[in-house]
This record gives sequence, C-alpha cells and structure tokens, in this order.
Amino acid sequence: MTELPRLPAQGGCRDTPILKQRGQREVFCGLTGIIWLHRKMQDAFFLVVGSRTCAHLLQSAAGVMIFAEPRFGTAILEETDLAGLADAQDELDKVVSELLARRPDIKQLFLVGSCPSEVIKLDLAKAAERMTQAHAPRVRVLNFSGSGIETTFTQGEDACLASMVPVLPRDDQRQLLLVGALPDVVEEQAIGLLEAMGIGPIKVLPAPRATDDLGVGSGTVYALTQPFLGDTHDALTRRGARHLPAPFPFGDEGTTQWLAAIATEFGVAPELFENVTAAPRARARKAIAQAAEGLRGKSVFFFPDSQLEIPLARFLTRECGMDAIEVSAPFIHKGIVGPDLDMLAEGPVISEGQDVDLQLDRARTARPDLTVCGLGLANPLEAEGLATKWAIELVFTPVHFYEQAGDLAGLFSRPIRRHDLLKLEAA
Ligand code: SF4
Repeated sequence: MTELPRLPAQGGCRDTPILKQRGQREVFCGLTGIIWLHRKMQDAFFLVVGSRTCAHLLQSAAGVMIFAEPRFGTAILEETDLAGLADAQDELDKVVSELLARRPDIKQLFLVGSCPSEVIKLDLAKAAERMTQAHAPRVRVLNFSGSGIETTFTQGEDACLASMVPVLPRDDQRQLLLVGALPDVVEEQAIGLLEAMGIGPIKVLPAPRATDDLGVGSGTVYALTQPFLGDTHDALTRRGARHLPAPFPFGDEGTTQWLAAIATEFGVAPELFENVTAAPRARARKAIAQAAEGLRGKSVFFFPDSQLEIPLARFLTRECGMDAIEVSAPFIHKGIVGPDLDMLAEGPVISEGQDVDLQLDRARTARPDLTVCGLGLANPLEAEGLATKWAIELVFTPVHFYEQAGDLAGLFSRPIRRHDLLKLEAA
C-alpha cells in the first residue's frame, strides 16, 4: 500500500433530495438507552423521573437484568405531582438524598426526563444543579431527557453523552477521543487496532468511571462510533475538539475508511496501516461473503428508527449486494453521515422523519425482500407476508468493526432465510 485509503469523493446520495414527512411515528423513546449505558458507566445511576409506564418500559427492556444490583430506577410521578398539587422538586430531593445515602458506590447520578416530567415542565436542569451543590464532590448530578416526545430511542445515549461534555475538565493535550458506547469487546478491538498503528493517547466517552482521567480541549480530535450522536458532536465542537468525519465502522469498507481517517490525522505510514489491517480485513471479507450469500440481489426498505439506517444501507448495498428501495432515518445530519451518503449509490428514496401510514403504503407497494423497522411495525408487516428485521437489535448486538462484520451481514440474512423456509413449508 503506497497511500492510506482516502475518504470517498462527494457524490452518491449526498445531494439526493430528501423526502421529509411529519406525522404519526412508531418509535421507542430514549429511555431505552439506559439499558446499554448503565453497563458502560460502572459508577453511574440513572434515575428516571417519570410514570409507571416508564418504569414498566425499563423493566421489560432490561429483562433479566432487574435481578442484578440495579443501576437505574424510576422516581414515580404520582397523579398529585402531575396535577401540580405537590412540590415535585422537594419530593425529588428526598428520593435522591435517600438513594445516595443508601448507595455510596454512586459517583454520577443522571436525572432522566420523561414525557410526564416534560409535560408538567419539571425543571431537571435546576434540580441537577441544586443536587450537585448538595452532594459534591462525592457525586456529580447531571440531567438529560429520554422523553418519547419528538425523539427516537438512540437519542437517549446522545442526550446523556452531550450532558457530560460541558462538565469534562479542560485538557488541551493531543489525544484521540472515541465517542459512543460500544460493547467492551468491540471497543477493545478498535483500541487494539489503533494502538498497533502507534496512535495515542486514546480516550473513550463515556468513560467507565467518573474519576477516569478524561478531559477535552483544543488538542482533542474525535471519531464517532455511532451515527446518532449529533448533540454530542455539537457539544464537543463547542469545547474546541475537532471531528474526524468518516464512514461508520460497519463492514470491511466502513471499518477501513473509519480507521484510515484517524490514521491520516495521526500520520500513520501506509505500510503500517496495511500490516495492522490486512489480516482482520481478510477475515471480515470472508465472513461477509459467507453470511451475505442469501442477500445478493434482494431488496431492503428501511423505516426510520435507530439512526443507523444510512451507514447500514451503505454496507448492505456495497458489500452484501442488496438493492435499497428506501433509506429512512429519524434525522439526517450530513456532517455525520455525509461520507456514508457519498458511498451510497444513487437510486433509493432518502427520507427523513415519518408519516407512518404513507410510508407503510410505499413499503406495501414495493414489497421489499427485507424491511428494517421498529417492533411495532414488524408484526403487522410479517402478517402481510413481508420479512422484517427489528432495528433495535442492531443496537443491542455487537456489529462494529472487522470481527463483527460477518455477524452484521448474518443479522439481515437470517430473517430472509427464515421467511423463505416458512414459504416452502406452506407450499
Ligand atoms: Fe412512555 Fe414517554 Fe415514559 Fe418513554 S418516556 S416510557 S414514551 S411515557
């Protein structure tokens, strides 16, 4: 290799007119993010200020984990709070004081807003400020919203990480910051590849503990590992950090381009890049080729849900031979997904937001081989004979970087195979 892989030239679907629709939406709310965030931040507690519905959502999404020592809970707003008859702020102070007295292991407390707390306009920013004064330096109290009003489920992580950025200490040293909550094993693979190229120091947001040495400043360059971190991206930029735009590390191409953008910034020699990436890249290509056999020539339709849709459409069309009919995302931030749009060949409808009935009509007319959508739409579409993939699984499953590339393709090929088998049995 004589030069590092370069970012794709602008083109593809970057300038495709975006179909924007607003209407009824079918998405989970941002509270869902607590399920994976609480595993990453080992001294954090997420206190949802919400209703019994919010508590039920968390418990059913968390499944068996509620039997473990919990690091999340719900401060239930009772009807008297909702009617404004009681001072919810006083109640909250009491709940938090009791919690922190009972749990000395908590070093970061997140007050998480919900639809009910937003409806009664409970000022959680003010509450977090007051509680930080009361409990500092032992505990840092922050707030973010996980409400389902006008948001989608991955925005919970974005709002959480964005809430942490303003309170990070200033650190102007040259460093690479990886931004996004990845499963530990995947994060270790990414850091291992970068360190093998001599890149460092490398920090991660979210850090496992509040006391971890993580600061941000003019020497920080950051790479996003998830495409849904728009507010975090803006907050880091405001702190003087610089974003390294790149396709997201899904599949062989995405991972190579993502690594190359960082390697270029740190002046890594092309031969070293090749030495570090050649073997895992070959494994990824082989695994994708096997897992993607059932995907070639099949069509895919993305409903807007996880915000991973554009990078995944790029992976499925370029590396797995699928045809994208519609690629829809809740929000399209070209500063973040622009390089993926550049690589996505023109053809599919690119849409932002949702009027679910109109979009369902388009999917029914197109009858794609695979529809990627939220849980609420999957069952009715399956009943109409369409194969579906739940978007939420893509966030709960390790899918980033070379070693997971085959599994990522497999996540899409399995529902098609199952659908074909069911058709055969029925024939
Ligand atoms: Fe439902 Fe809103 Fe609570 Fe989410 S935050 S569980 S959408 S009430």
